[in-house]
Amino acid sequence: MRNDKSHRKFHRAAVKTVFTLIAISLLASCGKRQVHNFSGIAIGTYYSVTYVGQEDISLPVAADSIIAVINREFSIFDSTSTVSRLNANATTVLTDDIIHLISLSNHISEETGGAFDITIGPLVNAMGFGKSTDFDTLSYQKQMDSLRHFIGYQKISVADGKLQKADSRIQLDFNAIAKGYAVDKIARMMKEKGYENFLVDIGGEVLAQGRKFKGQEWRVGVQIPTETQNGLIETNYIFELPLESGMNCVATSGNYRNYKEINGKRYSHIINPTTGYSEKSSLLSVSVIAKDCATADAFATAFMVLGIEKSMAILRNHNELAAHFIYYENGNFQYKQTSNFPKNIQ
Ligand code: AMP
Ligand code: MG
Repeated sequence: MRNDKSHRKFHRAAVKTVFTLIAISLLASCGKRQVHNFSGIAIGTYYSVTYVGQEDISLPVAADSIIAVINREFSIFDSTSTVSRLNANATTVLTDDIIHLISLSNHISEETGGAFDITIGPLVNAMGFGKSTDFDTLSYQKQMDSLRHFIGYQKISVADGKLQKADSRIQLDFNAIAKGYAVDKIARMMKEKGYENFLVDIGGEVLAQGRKFKGQEWRVGVQIPTETQNGLIETNYIFELPLESGMNCVATSGNYRNYKEINGKRYSHIINPTTGYSEKSSLLSVSVIAKDCATADAFATAFMVLGIEKSMAILRNHNELAAHFIYYENGNFQYKQTSNFPKNIQ
């Protein structure tokens, strides 16, 4: 149990700190050689692409159109998006992106004992993290008892390019995987245009490809909070992605930025499909390294649900993944990582 003082510290830290993944830009050291960057708005956040080679002014347009397609497919805020239409039970032929993400999501649901589940939609909405921001804790408990009957990844499948729902009230939510997938798609576009050295970053979900310049590796970092005698400071855990193992993506999930506080209780936007509530644990954020960003994104969300011990048990059977956990215990920020997570080179 946290005492009052440490609880206050925790609260202050959680509010003030942004310990997320940052792509470290080393543009300055590259002089006039051909390192270029463009950025824009994507899925409620920013995107940024840094690349080496010939400048191509059509790249931002290509990236923007990939983001626009992702929004048209997956946005739950746009009532005309494919997912919104599926949630309204319109008969819609699924896009390849949606078929791919249903299949990948269901695989990750299996691997995480159902901690990751794209049928979480009704609970996300009832908690006010969807289109509506209303949340009434008392009616939520009652609502949840009935909503839970149509939560479960086993209740959906794809046949003849169409979504099959076991219950018409099933609502899909791809928010925990679509951002990572958008990173993968922009990276694919860059490769198709012939680039071999680039870094794609959407709101801290990062994919690095090749080398930056003169053999220098891309560097990414997790911003971590540290208590000192002079108060809270942030340090950077800087690392190079293990590109030689093909693990060139990293994604972070956390419960410290998107939550509601009602009568002193916190409700995070990451929900345990089994209990219908967010987990009350000391875990603050998880960064996952994987071979594609959609996978890293989904596992990071699942590990927030599962907590450190259960996640570590899964990770022991998945050496194609690496993870770094930040948690708050005994009045301090603490870190834990798998042995294959890259060392801090700061
Ligand atoms: P992320 O920021 O990638 O961890 O995604 C969080 C978002 O995914 C939430 O805002 C919800 O829309 C959705 N979500 C919440 N809980 C889950 C879950 N257990 N499995 C899949 N998606 C979830
Ligand atoms: Mg995620």
